[in-house]
Amino acid sequence: MIEIVSDGRCTACNICVRVCPANVFDIVADAPPRIARQDDCQTCFLCEIYCPEDALYVAPHAEGPTGITEG
Ligand code: SF4
Ligand code: SF4
Repeated sequence: MIEIVSDGRCTACNICVRVCPANVFDIVADAPPRIARQDDCQTCFLCEIYCPEDALYVAPHAEGPTGITEG
């Protein structure tokens, strides 16, 4: 499940918003996308694969949030 959009790394290119097949993200003007529908995430890793900044973290665990933070 999608866990993190890193504010520090993300350049707000919104590629992840476009590639996500589950419409998990919402575009935010001049800011990183918001994980708006985390429960809809299919754990497909497409956003992580396509992100040019390695700003996303998708946990292999598909059933629910793991509570991980960027740290
Ligand atoms: S693809 Fe990566 S850099 Fe682009 S908006 Fe998404 S998280 Fe940010
Ligand atoms: S892992 Fe797949 S379904 Fe989940 S947010 Fe990323 S692109 Fe969307």
